[in-house]
Amino acid sequence: MNQKVILKLKALLLNRKREILKQLAHLEMGRDAQKERVIELGDAAQKEDLVRLLDHLVGRGNQKVREIDLALERITAGKYGICEICEKRIEKRRLEAVPVTRFCRKCAQNFEQVQELLQQPRDEIIDDALLDKYRNLLDRSILEGVAQLSIGTDLLDSEDPINK
Ligand SMILES: [Zn+2]
Repeated sequence: MNQKVILKLKALLLNRKREILKQLAHLEMGRDAQKERVIELGDAAQKEDLVRLLDHLVGRGNQKVREIDLALERITAGKYGICEICEKRIEKRRLEAVPVTRFCRKCAQNFEQVQELLQQPRDEIIDDALLDKYRNLLDRSILEGVAQLSIGTDLLDSEDPINK
């Protein structure tokens, strides 16, 4: 892969990591505040839901940071852009769309199919329902964190990047 392209993607990854860490700090603060919140009797379930949601988002954020770190390590090791399954080059367009990806389009699609067969429950769905319920209770920085973590760099973005 062209060194210039790699440098560009590296800068993108570092940028993204910085953003996520910033959002994570907000989310963690929000979660801790929720945990410490003194609640009326009867609000326990709501508080539990919120803490669970924020915990989940923090976990997802940490996961994304790990994915980015792994991609940065592959760049350092000179292995970036090589599919870990078939060891062929990953398409440039795909790397640009999903810079943390470890698989070429074809292998990712196969992987996706296997996952579909396994029918892994999508916790995102739970998130959305919970989020709608509590949207007005969360402050703006947290909602921004949620928005940040919901887009972009999933390892196997199931949306368009696979088809690129
Ligand atoms: Zn492959």
